[in-house]
Amino acid sequence: MVAESNAEKRKAAVQAEEPQEISIERKLVALYTLQQIDSQIDRIRIIRGELPLEVQDLEDEIAGLETRTEKFNNEISALKQLISEKQLAIKDSQGLIKRYEEQQQNVRNNREYDSLSKEIEFQTLEIQLSEKRIREYNAKIEDFAKEISDAERRLEERRGDLAVKKAELQSIVEETEKEEHDLIAKSKASEDVVEDRLVMAYKRIRNNARNGLAVVQIERDACGGCFNKIPPQHQLDIRMHKKVIVCEYCGRILIDQDIVTKYHSEA
Ligand SMILES: [Zn+2]
Repeated sequence: MVAESNAEKRKAAVQAEEPQEISIERKLVALYTLQQIDSQIDRIRIIRGELPLEVQDLEDEIAGLETRTEKFNNEISALKQLISEKQLAIKDSQGLIKRYEEQQQNVRNNREYDSLSKEIEFQTLEIQLSEKRIREYNAKIEDFAKEISDAERRLEERRGDLAVKKAELQSIVEETEKEEHDLIAKSKASEDVVEDRLVMAYKRIRNNARNGLAVVQIERDACGGCFNKIPPQHQLDIRMHKKVIVCEYCGRILIDQDIVTKYHSEA
C-alpha cells in the first residue's frame, strides 16, 4: 500500500510537472492551427477580392467602349447634317446657274453677258467645292463607321467576358461564404485554447507581416518568415517547447517540425 502510495505520489509529481510542458506544446500547436486556418481565410479573401476587381475593370472597359461608340455616332450625325447642307447649297447654285443661263438669253450687251458668265463660273466652283467637302465628309463617316464596328465587336467580347466573370464571382462567393464562416468558427475555437495575451501577440504579428504569417517553422536552420539564420542554442530552445519563442529579427513565433507533425496528427 505504502509502495503504491509512493508510486502514486511520483505519478502525481510528474503530472504536476508535465501539464506546463504539455500546455506550452498545446499552445504552440493551437497557434500553428490558428495560423493554418487564418491563412486559409486569407486565401479565400484574396480570391474573392480579385474577382470583383476584374469585374469592375470589365465594366469600366465596356462603359468606355459605349461612350466611344456614342461619340462616333454623334460625329456621323453631325457629318450627315453637313452633307445635307452642302447638298442644299448645290441645289441653290444649280438653280442660280439655270436662272443666269436664262438671263443670258436676254442680255442687252456683252458686259452683262460676261458678268452673268462670271456668276455662273463662281456657282460652278461653289458646286465643285461642296462636292469635294461631301466626299471628305463621307470618307470621315466611313472611318467612324469602321471605328464603331471595331468597338462593337470588342463590346460583344467584353460583355461575354463580363457575364462569365460575374457567374464565376457569384459561385465563388456562395462557395466560400460557408467555408469562410466555418473557418472563422474554427479560428475562434483555436483562439480559446491559447490565453488572450498570446492571441493578441499573434494577431499583432500577423497584422504586421505582409504575408499574414505569425507562426512559422524553422526551415534549413532559418526563420520560415524572414529567412534569417537561427543560432543553434535558439533552435534547441524552440525544440524543447518550454516557452513561446519569437524570431529575433522579424518577431514571428517559431516552431519546429514536431509541432507541425502534432498538428497534422490532430487534424
Ligand atoms: Zn524571422
